Amino acid sequence: MSRLQRLAGTLEEPFLVTHGTNVRYLTGFQSSNCATLVGPDRTTLYADFRYAEAGRSVEGVAFVETARDLLADLAGRLAGRRIAFEADSVSYSGYQTLVAGGLDLVATHGVVERLRRVKEPAELEAIRRAAELSDRMYESLARERFTGRTERELGWWIDQRFHDLGADAPAFATIVASGPNGARPHAGQTDRVVEIGTLVTVDAGCVVGGYCSDCTRTFATGELPRELADAYELCLRAQLAGLEALRPGTGWRDVDAASRAVIEAAGHGEHFGHGLGHGVGLEVHEAPFLRPEAAAGEALEAGNVVTVEPGIYLPPVGGVRIEDLVLVTPDGGEPLTRFTKELVTVE
Ligand code: ZN
Ligand code: ZN
Repeated sequence: MSRLQRLAGTLEEPFLVTHGTNVRYLTGFQSSNCATLVGPDRTTLYADFRYAEAGRSVEGVAFVETARDLLADLAGRLAGRRIAFEADSVSYSGYQTLVAGGLDLVATHGVVERLRRVKEPAELEAIRRAAELSDRMYESLARERFTGRTERELGWWIDQRFHDLGADAPAFATIVASGPNGARPHAGQTDRVVEIGTLVTVDAGCVVGGYCSDCTRTFATGELPRELADAYELCLRAQLAGLEALRPGTGWRDVDAASRAVIEAAGHGEHFGHGLGHGVGLEVHEAPFLRPEAAAGEALEAGNVVTVEPGIYLPPVGGVRIEDLVLVTPDGGEPLTRFTKELVTVE
């Protein structure tokens, strides 16, 4: 059964999908200004003139060319009808436009995202290839000189390497965080020159066939201060505990807790202030979200692809994060990123 058919079977009223990634997932159509209306027995795809030719070639849907102001156009076409919509995708002014058009709106949350959580074989194939390119990137990065180069230079090298390996694009802005910058989980890249005797956190991923990879490794540039060497060893133990907890039926927040407990037991709970991991697919951050705030009833399923990425952040000294991309199988977690997690010392 197609994704559209599976979705249509669950609907109580026609469902207006406006989140671009969800439209792409359901129809294969990519556009910055599109929507699709999924009904019980027919699906309509809407986009403006710029995408009309591509839209007409999408199979299994009726294509309708709209004005550039898509929601205002749809408000006229769908006036008076009861329509479910994606509350997390429509802006407040977009909502006002639809209401002014006289639609009877039913808010929904995460309907397509729920379908996207369990990957199909072709999706897994693309994710596996993206993860393999991540491994190859890290293998060659580990042979590069770090010290004396800026974070920005290394970041650009990584993005070029992904390109050379055949990736479509980086999956997100590559992070290279050295020394004290490593204590900021979402550091980007700066003009800081990498120094000898510290840690450098590299968080990078690429896109293959529309699907993302996401992997973090932390490198040493020579002999480390005791505090950072210990943090690395602790982070790795926590990461392995998180991997061990991955299996169908385990609660999202329980996976987080399994890894977090290792860091808390060592007295570093306050230095791990983010969730353990997230789903990866067409988007680099998507459900499931493995974090303490996850709802108690949410549990892993076979076919989920998630990251496991504990970190320990010790301002102003530095920090460490280790992240793998992992497929949840009936037997447990199968890491898709396989570059070594033993501490690698670079020049
Ligand atoms: Zn990452
Ligand atoms: Zn991540």
